[in-house]
Amino acid sequence: MPALIQQSRWDRLSGKLVSFKFVSDLGLRSILFHLLINHSTNFSNQLIAMEISIPDEQLAMRDKVKQFVAEELEPISLKVEAEGRIPDQIVDKMRQLGLFGLSIPREYGGLGLSTLAEIMVYEELTKTNASFRSRIGTSNSIGSMGILFDGTDDQKNTYLPRIAAGEWTAAFALTEPDAGSDAANIKCNAVLEGDHWVLNGTKQFITNGDCASVFTTIAVTDEQKRARGGFTAFIIEKDFAGFSVSLPDSKMGLKGSNTNEIVFKNCMVPRENVIGGMEMVGMGFKTAMRVLDKGRLTMGACALGASQKLLDMCVAHIKHQFNSGKPKADLQVAQFSLADMATEIYAARQMLHDTARLRDTGKNVTHEASMVKLFCTEMASRIAERAMDIFGDEGYLTQTQIEMFLRDVRLYRIFEGTSEIQRMVISRNLLRD
Ligand SMILES: Cc1cc2nc3c(=O)[nH]c(=O)nc-3n(C[C@H](O)[C@H](O)[C@H](O)COP(=O)(O)OP(=O)(O)OC[C@H]3O[C@@H](n4cnc5c(N)ncnc54)[C@H](O)[C@@H]3O)c2cc1C
Repeated sequence: MPALIQQSRWDRLSGKLVSFKFVSDLGLRSILFHLLINHSTNFSNQLIAMEISIPDEQLAMRDKVKQFVAEELEPISLKVEAEGRIPDQIVDKMRQLGLFGLSIPREYGGLGLSTLAEIMVYEELTKTNASFRSRIGTSNSIGSMGILFDGTDDQKNTYLPRIAAGEWTAAFALTEPDAGSDAANIKCNAVLEGDHWVLNGTKQFITNGDCASVFTTIAVTDEQKRARGGFTAFIIEKDFAGFSVSLPDSKMGLKGSNTNEIVFKNCMVPRENVIGGMEMVGMGFKTAMRVLDKGRLTMGACALGASQKLLDMCVAHIKHQFNSGKPKADLQVAQFSLADMATEIYAARQMLHDTARLRDTGKNVTHEASMVKLFCTEMASRIAERAMDIFGDEGYLTQTQIEMFLRDVRLYRIFEGTSEIQRMVISRNLLRD
């Protein structure tokens, strides 16, 4: 084992190894990390765990984003909320930082971050207005991952570099008026006519619908088989004939990030735009579910970032507030509330990071990702409620942003599978023979 260690630091008093870096590749590092964590009592500090698992350059991205949030995003958070849009120059800065290609491999122009490094970026990015993360979220996750996981080489070479550069925003279109949680009920259909597929149907609540150039879209290609081999994933470009986008929805939160209805009316899609090529016809449901596994970890990270921010705001607030002449921080009710928030956040971070590491070793994490999404997103709502209690009337004021977080974190329990759907996935897995 020591031969694989490049640098080590030992605590002189306890004689314990406090930190080290591996020479080996990330996969091996993760495996060794698990061996060590399970067989040694010397590694209890989560910061050490991070250091072991993530190369410095990937941690540097998290730090850059932290700075970007503090210097560029947080100062305009209220403006974005009021105006319902992110200024173009900020989107340009996001492009320059590489935020549209966090998870896209380097060979396609992305940053090629590990899952763990990527979710740590989201934890920072969601400590401000959630719309900023949403603007880049679909390109890194549900919009592009189908192409990355199952696309042909041609498709990867055509689309991924543009998505990674932020030139083309990618979106994901599964939900329909009659098919939300029950995605197997989609009606949008595609019929092969010569060298084109003809798509007809409506998708709704499509994040970034009006700014995306490319849509991973799931449609029915075999009415008999439906979800059991009758759904196909397509890459749709916004300029294809018969494709249109409706006006943005008026929503409760994420005011700076639009969702739209999109309509396919005899939309002409080249035959080769089936994700993975013609041999993948009928495999669209599998592609969609694989994409959502990763999306659920992302949602966990967003919920965690918002929760941490709310806790930090509460700590800062009660240190400087007085109640009947006594500092609020002296009130046991406030102290206990902070303690419960911090404890939940610690638990959430452990499960999220552990699942991300497992995914980075190549393990299927469907079960764990559902537990992460369920726990982290439900926690974020509890924490936002507690923050509102701690701030009291001030929390109800727009300028404190507590009410914005309360509205925004509610969404995390709805999209990419509601809490009930996560419970169904988890229990189905537990009860499987
Ligand atoms: C802001 C926003 C952005 C979105 N972005 C996208 C996107 O980019 N692409 C996309 O395709 N979709 C997107 N969606 C859609 C989202 O994924 C769906 O809203 C979600 O899957 C839930 O579906 P539904 O709203 O139709 O709720 P329903 O399925 O109608 O569910 C209503 C309620 O019933 C519960 N329920 C449903 N079925 C069961 C069951 N079997 N057992 C127990 N309880 C059940 C649900 O948990 C929920 O509480 C977005 C939605 C929102 C609000």
